[in-house]
Amino acid sequence: MTKQILLSTPHMGELELQFVKEAFDTNWIAPVGPHVDAFEREFCELVGSSHAAAVSSGTAALHLALRLIGVSAGDEVFCSTLTFIATASPITYLGAKPVFIDSDRTSWNINPDLFRETLDKRAKIGKLPKAVVIVHLYGQSSDIDPILAACNDYQIPLIEDAAESLGATYNNRSPGSFGKIGIFSFNGNKIITTSGGGMLVSEDQQLVEKARFLATQARDPAPHYQHSEIGYNYRLSNVLAGIGRGQLQVLEERVRARRHNFAVYQQALGNLPGIEFMPEADFGRATRWLTCLTVNPAAFGADREQIRLALAKEKIEARPVWKPLHLQPVFAECESVGGEVAEDLFDRGLCLPSGSNLTEADLQRVTSAIAEIHRTA
Ligand SMILES: *Cc1c(COP(=O)(O)O)cnc(C)c1O
Repeated sequence: MTKQILLSTPHMGELELQFVKEAFDTNWIAPVGPHVDAFEREFCELVGSSHAAAVSSGTAALHLALRLIGVSAGDEVFCSTLTFIATASPITYLGAKPVFIDSDRTSWNINPDLFRETLDKRAKIGKLPKAVVIVHLYGQSSDIDPILAACNDYQIPLIEDAAESLGATYNNRSPGSFGKIGIFSFNGNKIITTSGGGMLVSEDQQLVEKARFLATQARDPAPHYQHSEIGYNYRLSNVLAGIGRGQLQVLEERVRARRHNFAVYQQALGNLPGIEFMPEADFGRATRWLTCLTVNPAAFGADREQIRLALAKEKIEARPVWKPLHLQPVFAECESVGGEVAEDLFDRGLCLPSGSNLTEADLQRVTSAIAEIHRTA
């Protein structure tokens, strides 16, 4: 029986269960407690942000971020197109409209020149967006400086979706710590996980306090239950925060393991005709959360989908690169700027199994299977 090799699975360290036990022993089984406070503090230290609020998911963190910035019905929000839908869906929760911007080939993230050009054009016609959400995809930071400079020129708040890029660097700092608000995810497939969870970070203390307030049903200070605003039930459980504290301690190891996966894949497959790996931009360290490559079918002898299906037959899970949001049926009516680069990366892009708990034998199975697909094509 050959075992299934999955794309990215949870990988617990030594301390998580101890922290969870502590939560049980002290009966802090609630979306509040000492692990939540400590997780926020320790997370701030790790990413170099001043304030953080632990919440129930990355999507919840993004929803809060947009709400805190004041995005509301009818507003437009600029957004990377090559990403998971959760980067954009909270924009629509608030009745606002995303405008999708294409990627560049260096980082696969939002194209800073195209972004600046689009802002300049919009400024001329008096139609600037209310906010900007950029993603840091697959463990690689966007080129933040020029994007932030353009946002600052027009005083538009930047939200960074760093759900996939905890542990990455941009000029030696963590993506997510540059914009007005950054968000992270601890979903089961991310580089570290609490099974489900998220974090919102900012330099603005008042804003993070307001995030906690909105995340706990916007309860006014009064002995009875009084509410002047509508909030959400978005706080992270103290039990799960315990898992998160354990996971923070092994993040560096997880980055090393994922970068090792990438190195093994590149060494074994990099010379096959038609295979090109996702580049690592020179402005920082990518975590290689997922190892991604593009396939030129004419040169390789099989296309992305043929490779994916052949791997599935070998019980190896691989996935297409994110389908750009401007191509999603649900966003058919939304405006998009460019899109050809994202479309090409989707057409030809494949994500390989990338968990930090893959064995050398697992990696060998994947590389042999791909080499065999090329040989028999
Ligand atoms: C996972 C992910 C999210 C959402 O995080 P959840 O914790 O699953 O809600 C948002 N954006 C991107 C790019 C992601 O990969």
